Amino acid sequence: AKRTREGVHVFVPDPVTGTSGSDRLRTMEELRTALDGDELRVYLQPQMDMRDGRIVGAEALVRWDHPTRGLLSPAALLPAAEQAGLLRPLTDRVLELALAAAARWWPEREVPVSVNLSAANVTDLDLAGKVAAALHRHGLPARALTLEVVEDTLMADPERGRTVLADLRASGVRTSIDDYGTGYSSLAYLRHLPADELKLDRSLTADVDRDPRAAAIVQSTVALAHALGLSLVAEGVESLAISTTLAGLGCDVAQGYAIARPMPVDDFLRWLAASDSGLVDEALIPDFSQ
Ligand code: C2E
Ligand code: MG
Ligand code: MG
Ligand code: MG
Repeated sequence: AKRTREGVHVFVPDPVTGTSGSDRLRTMEELRTALDGDELRVYLQPQMDMRDGRIVGAEALVRWDHPTRGLLSPAALLPAAEQAGLLRPLTDRVLELALAAAARWWPEREVPVSVNLSAANVTDLDLAGKVAAALHRHGLPARALTLEVVEDTLMADPERGRTVLADLRASGVRTSIDDYGTGYSSLAYLRHLPADELKLDRSLTADVDRDPRAAAIVQSTVALAHALGLSLVAEGVESLAISTTLAGLGCDVAQGYAIARPMPVDDFLRWLAASDSGLVDEALIPDFSQ
């Protein structure tokens, strides 16, 4: 923070950490405290089956309920966690919160919860064991959990990443390739990835209703995913026009602001119940009858 002539503190964001340089160390220290206490939250964002409008998943997105700075997003929190070497304990905590949430709707509603992994996790050969123990503590079957990995995080050690994913999958946990279409998505590597779903990045879905080239990429990615036996989830679905176009191109599942924003766990439970009883805007479900 910088002090202006008026004495007001102006927040000057660092392009990397989202905090000013002098605040970075403090943020890292505070994050340690946050991980010991109960300042971390997960917000849940529903994922909708495009064929029938049913909710078939929920992604857990970390938030930091900071005592003075308010609710902080992953963009502000993840770089600090990485620099402080706290990514593994962060995932442990998020997994704990996500599974505790899922245990509230499971098994009445068999909706898996998705958790994002970081590079520090996909090199952890104990991950499948830790995950199995966490599921057991919450009385959940393995299929109640989906673990999302961005392809680039596997690149540091592809061989080991593949092993970790294969172990998870063998235990019954679902695996997902996140932000597909960004970075160095290699088709050759995809061939050997033990995954259940592909999440198409928002950069590819954003213009799909207006840009035929974007639509062509989505369409061929859908074909690729299906040929490899993967379900295709479109992220960043911000409008009905995008949703309808994506459904027409064969996407299986949609996630985005047009369906719902990420919300606190209690809100999600109410939202899910309302959605199941048809109280959520039906207009979002593409109608192929006309
Ligand atoms: P992601 O896994 O691709 O998650 C989707 C992000 O897109 C979320 O941002 C979500 O709020 C946002 N989003 C969803 N629908 C829309 C939409 O229609 N339009 C737009 N513009 N955005 C939408 P969020 O929560 O800020 O998370 C950002 C990223 O931080 C995530 O991207 C994920 O890579 C990472 N992240 C979040 N939580 C965790 C976590 O617990 N652990 C790790 N390692 N990474 C996390
Ligand atoms: Mg994700
Ligand atoms: Mg994503
Ligand atoms: Mg993304």
